[in-house]
Amino acid sequence: MARLIIILALVAGFIMLYKSLFGANPRLEDSADASEMVQDPNCGVYVPKNQAIARSVQGKEHFFCSEKCADEYPSKKS
Ligand SMILES: [Zn+2]
Repeated sequence: MARLIIILALVAGFIMLYKSLFGANPRLEDSADASEMVQDPNCGVYVPKNQAIARSVQGKEHFFCSEKCADEYPSKKS
C-alpha cells in the first residue's frame, strides 16, 4: 500500500514538473501561429498565415496574398 502512495506522489510530481516546464508553451504556440508567415508561391510575397488565402492546388495546400494570385497560380503551372 505504501508503494502505491509513493507512485502516486511521483506521478503527481511529474505532472507538476511537466506543467511548470511546458505550461506556458500553448500560449507561445498560439502567438507563433498568429504571426507565422507563409510564402505566396505565385508572386513570392510573404503574408501572415491568418490573413492568407488558402487554396488547395493539385492536392497541396498553398497560401496566397490575394484571390488574384490564388486564381493565377494553377494556370501558371500548366
Ligand atoms: Zn501574391
